[in-house]
Amino acid sequence: DAGRVMREALILSALESAQRAVELGLPAEKIILSAKVSGVQELVAVYRDLSRRSDFALHLGLTEAGIGSKGIVASSAALGVLLQEGIGDTIRISLTPEPGASRTQEVIVAQELLQTMGLRAFTPMVTACPGCGRTTSEFFQELAQVVQGHVRAKMPEWKISHPGAENMTLAVMGCVVNGPGESRHANIGISLPGTGEAPAAPVFVDGERSVTLRGAGIATEFIALIDAYVEKKYARGIAGGA
Ligand code: SF4
Repeated sequence: DAGRVMREALILSALESAQRAVELGLPAEKIILSAKVSGVQELVAVYRDLSRRSDFALHLGLTEAGIGSKGIVASSAALGVLLQEGIGDTIRISLTPEPGASRTQEVIVAQELLQTMGLRAFTPMVTACPGCGRTTSEFFQELAQVVQGHVRAKMPEWKISHPGAENMTLAVMGCVVNGPGESRHANIGISLPGTGEAPAAPVFVDGERSVTLRGAGIATEFIALIDAYVEKKYARGIAGGA
């Protein structure tokens, strides 16, 4: 069919161009093939074929993926399948930015895709519950956002002074009924009070209950605990440091 002919033309063009470059003296290991298309299934088919038919490094990316969640979902669906099969050496997430928005979103999504798949770690990830009838306010959402923003902003500094901090896991949960379970699985987790619960937020560090935070300073105190944990666990030369 026409799609198959188009895919074959794309693949042959990439392979023949690379071959010609090698003949002209470019070392094969300096070549990265990119054969981007804008359909998810098409992209998966093209790259599976390319990886079967060549040893060149492959650059993955769904072109014209779209704006906002549509672009993120389409790119993640396509690249997730290929990466899981071990296909792909570099990636790009092509997003149409919101008017006036920064292009850094593309990089953040690409890093989060690799990190959530367990392929690379770039910055500590925050697990947050979705919220339900037990949550009384938007505080857990705000706290999750503040914490993610804080660790992302600190990471360039931690990368040098506290290598390994990018592997740290954090949890912000919305109630003390179901929150502690998830909080215990993170390096540092907090369970905020839900509906009808006492206004206290237990914090868990490496699976053990540590302190209980209360009052207006919960966010500041929780962030201070995270910084102290990084200082203690990842200071250069202590854990995973060079
Ligand atoms: S942790 Fe609590 S508030 Fe969050 S979704 Fe689960 S039950 Fe609801």
